[in-house]
Amino acid sequence: VGIAYDAHPLQEGRKLVLGGVTIPFDSGLAGWSDGDTVTHAVIDAFLGAAALGDIGSHFPPGDPRFKDISSLEMLRQVSGELAAHGWRAVNVDVTVVAIRPMLGSYIPLMRQAIAGALDTTVENVSIKASTANGLGFAGAGDGIAAHAVAMIEGI
Ligand SMILES: [Zn+2]
Repeated sequence: VGIAYDAHPLQEGRKLVLGGVTIPFDSGLAGWSDGDTVTHAVIDAFLGAAALGDIGSHFPPGDPRFKDISSLEMLRQVSGELAAHGWRAVNVDVTVVAIRPMLGSYIPLMRQAIAGALDTTVENVSIKASTANGLGFAGAGDGIAAHAVAMIEGI
């Protein structure tokens, strides 16, 4: 089992990508990659479960190879690395914290995208959205955060 937390600031002029889904909004998440905090939390939870380091050690910020890279592509690579170490994904549960935009209608698409990158079924991917009741930076709309717990099993 692995756990993860990730957060990115919202910035005007950026495309908003969450869970591999592009969501129409007036700003997006700042970051070296596409800033997809949901997918980053999923990646870090699986890397943690296998004790394979963290997302920063696999995809260092500042490395030109990863500038604006799709985080879903990063997850595909991590999924391959898990398999290379004799592991496969069992399930992952994510809570994304954002006061806006409303994410409910995008969650089925996010689950599908994450499941596809992990080569598993959508039933194994849970994504829940919280507004934090307006508390903290995510509640104030300054950024978006994501928490994840992932389980793996030996192949
Ligand atoms: Zn991140």
